[in-house]
Amino acid sequence: MTRPESIAGGCLCGAIRFKITFPKEEDWPPQSNGICQCTMCRKHSGSLLPQCCGFPWANITPHFASNPAYKTYSSSVHVYRGFCGTCGSALTCNEKSTPDIVEINLGAFDEDVLCGTRDEEKAWEDEYGRHVPRTGGVGKELCYPRYHLFWENAIPGVTDDFAGKKYLQDRAKGEAFTG
Ligand SMILES: [Zn+2]
Ligand SMILES: [Zn+2]
Repeated sequence: MTRPESIAGGCLCGAIRFKITFPKEEDWPPQSNGICQCTMCRKHSGSLLPQCCGFPWANITPHFASNPAYKTYSSSVHVYRGFCGTCGSALTCNEKSTPDIVEINLGAFDEDVLCGTRDEEKAWEDEYGRHVPRTGGVGKELCYPRYHLFWENAIPGVTDDFAGKKYLQDRAKGEAFTG
């Protein structure tokens, strides 16, 4: 998959929009992509499977902090989280120890980025509904989870069916395992 020039996203109401570029070969596909089942990520996102990916602030325009709709909440001494003050969309997770990197919640990316662009002219209908073929999209490259944090909070039969690298808590607190 070739590196996209840029990908776009924003909050639900559109007050916050952003674009991320990938100027260097090693920027794509992003490697810092994981699902965190910790209670704070769940509460902030409202999702059982909060997933975000880290990007350098330098590659993001405009900087979220320049938008008055962007609000932050300090969820612990180490982390603050960003959201839209108008519609409430949870957007970012920021480690205070790595101020050059922002982790963006992957659901904030636009539908054509995640799923491809809808080709309405080629749509068809059957008993299941309307099928609209899509072209493009970088969902798999962008979103395939490379690790799982706080596996201790996985809900049996609901959120524990993933392959790949798992950590019981945070990455700093122990070795990864698979299975
Ligand atoms: Zn909004
Ligand atoms: Zn978390």
